[in-house]
Amino acid sequence: MTDLDSFRTEVAAWFEANRPPEPDFLLPESFMEVGTDQQFDYLRAWQRKIYEAGYLGMAWPTQYGGGGKPQAFQDIVNAEMTRQKVPFVPNTIGLNWAGPLILAIGTEAEKQRYIKNILSAEDIWCQGFSEPDNGSDLAATTTRATSDGDHYILNGAKIWTSLGSYAKYMILLARTEPGSTRYAGLSYFLCPMHTPGIETQPIRKLTGEYGFTQTFFRDARIPADCLMGREGEGWKIAMMTLTFERGATGGQAGGIARQALNVHDVLELAQTARRDGRPAIEDPLMRDQLVRFLIEDQGDRLTATRGTIPALCTERPHAIPLSQKLRTSEHRRRLLQFALTLQGANAPRWVGDANTFEGGKWQRAYFNSFSSTIGGGTSQIQANIVAERVLGLPKD
Ligand SMILES: Cc1cc2nc3c(=O)[nH]c(=O)nc-3n(C[C@H](O)[C@H](O)[C@H](O)COP(=O)(O)OP(=O)(O)OC[C@H]3O[C@@H](n4cnc5c(N)ncnc54)[C@H](O)[C@@H]3O)c2cc1C
Repeated sequence: MTDLDSFRTEVAAWFEANRPPEPDFLLPESFMEVGTDQQFDYLRAWQRKIYEAGYLGMAWPTQYGGGGKPQAFQDIVNAEMTRQKVPFVPNTIGLNWAGPLILAIGTEAEKQRYIKNILSAEDIWCQGFSEPDNGSDLAATTTRATSDGDHYILNGAKIWTSLGSYAKYMILLARTEPGSTRYAGLSYFLCPMHTPGIETQPIRKLTGEYGFTQTFFRDARIPADCLMGREGEGWKIAMMTLTFERGATGGQAGGIARQALNVHDVLELAQTARRDGRPAIEDPLMRDQLVRFLIEDQGDRLTATRGTIPALCTERPHAIPLSQKLRTSEHRRRLLQFALTLQGANAPRWVGDANTFEGGKWQRAYFNSFSSTIGGGTSQIQANIVAERVLGLPKD
């Protein structure tokens, strides 16, 4: 038995013994839907427990609270969390975007100050990129950060701030050079949210859940040392953040970010859900589509593995990482739409309806599946990226 094999056994046993009891309230599906204090407290305590057991940030440096081990160990933990369907960890933006960014380009002081508390969920992070009038077009950012001695004064608004109600810090893109346009004149901040003049207002989603906020800045003064890098480097740092966010770069701390219903759950559903009075799986058209989803799922997993073997990616080396978000989020949305069609006439029933299948969790999952096809860059933007950077097609 190799070290990794015995580690897998140890991790499996730990999660079996330590998974938290089922709560008597509905858990959110992902970090983008954490909407009540009850949900947040439960998930935060769970993240802390995993970290204290040594199973988060395993590949991050020990001097900042990480485990200092090869990434393969964290990969095993992530796979085991997925396999055992344990609850997800809520500090996704900290663990997977802000944290790796700070480790890659942060100062020693920033690493000392932020990394360990990201892992333990002591400090929750959010992201202030999108604005009411600019989402895909990030270079149109208008939120201002005006230098004033040893402070910056923030004015403007961000929107769709996931975890905005719970975050202590925000990775924030703002315009520091008055009169500048587009990419120049933007700067990047590690912004404390509990600052007078910063207010968040929860936004209700399609599913009736809350999870993101609009965030207002009204003459909010933050210390000048919240600036990351130098003034004017905001665009470069934002692009680096997006490579972490879209899964194209390694270095993330690990854990899982959602409670995913997967293709095997859909297979089970097909055996129990009924169409026209018979198990849905007996319908040849349904079977045909189900097999296609199973093949696609297996193909995606093998593709992800191939992406880690450079010798198999020589022709278009960036094709797999740059298409990852587009492939997986769209696959998930189509899969969950299919899961509803399996339910025939019961498909339109909603959470709370006594006759809905499995409490309406499939309906909720389907509506929520649009989140990842929009957040972090819409599918159209992702397709543009693949067209331009992988296939070399012209911008227009
Ligand atoms: C669940 C969820 C969580 C989110 N969390 C955060 C967060 O924590 N922080 C944050 O900053 N933002 C967050 N967002 C916002 C997200 O990043 C934006 O919604 C997204 O970038 C799109 O911007 P927009 O909504 O302004 O749409 P727009 O940019 O106005 O786009 C509208 C439509 O036009 C299409 N479009 C735009 N430009 C092009 C183009 N060049 N080519 C082809 N089609 C185009 C888009 O694909 C889309 O269909 C979140 C969004 C969701 C749904």
